[in-house]
Amino acid sequence: MGLKKCTAIVLAAGQGKRMNSKIQKQFMEVGGYPILYYSLRCFQESPLMQDIILVTGKDVISYCKSEIVEKYGFSKVRSIIPGGKERYDSVYAGLLACENCDYVFIHDGARPFITEEILERGLKGVMDTGACVIGMPSKDTIKLADAGGFVEKTPDRSRVWTIQTPQIFSYALIRSAHESIRRKEMTAITDDGMVVEQETGTKIRLVEGSYQNIKITTMEDLAIAEAFLKK
Ligand code: C5P
Repeated sequence: MGLKKCTAIVLAAGQGKRMNSKIQKQFMEVGGYPILYYSLRCFQESPLMQDIILVTGKDVISYCKSEIVEKYGFSKVRSIIPGGKERYDSVYAGLLACENCDYVFIHDGARPFITEEILERGLKGVMDTGACVIGMPSKDTIKLADAGGFVEKTPDRSRVWTIQTPQIFSYALIRSAHESIRRKEMTAITDDGMVVEQETGTKIRLVEGSYQNIKITTMEDLAIAEAFLKK
């Protein structure tokens, strides 16, 4: 396993509009550290990971460098680069910045609670098929709405997963999938699994993350995160 070169792309170039806060959400603190600190620390400490590409807003690159990367000694961060308008633009910028990488772990910086075990399961999963997404079986029943706000369909809950990150791919596969989708009209691409689903015939392995691996999106998520950290 150690022979494969793994790069983490950590995404922190979102606006965080749903947070209604002046300070960008990836820099807001939980448990005394910025949200972004936690996932960077996990990738930094993981023996599976060779380097990290941090994607953030153009105007906060130097802040990220001094206040997070240098301050906490995240020596695996090889570059800090500006993201793009949409998440998939930021991912693509990250992919272009990778060097000699076999597998890429694409992760939302807004998910602080990844663990070494999740990274290990992810690497195992990607070695099977070249594509794997982390998620958990849904605890809630999911309904698909029609345009008018009525229920169109209720998928069988035992087969519904909610999807998290990291999402892990063979580098060549995800790079070519992104390149091919960029040549088309793109709408509502919310994760990288979708890009691989639409552009390649590759089967994507679903791998368990954890119910703690939440994405901090709104204020109530911050309170939940604080509670996890107090445990
Ligand atoms: O907006 P969403 O919740 O899907 O964002 C998920 C992750 O993608 C966040 O960590 C956010 O910072 C990142 N993102 C980005 N570039 C964008 C939009 C989102 O890096 N243009």
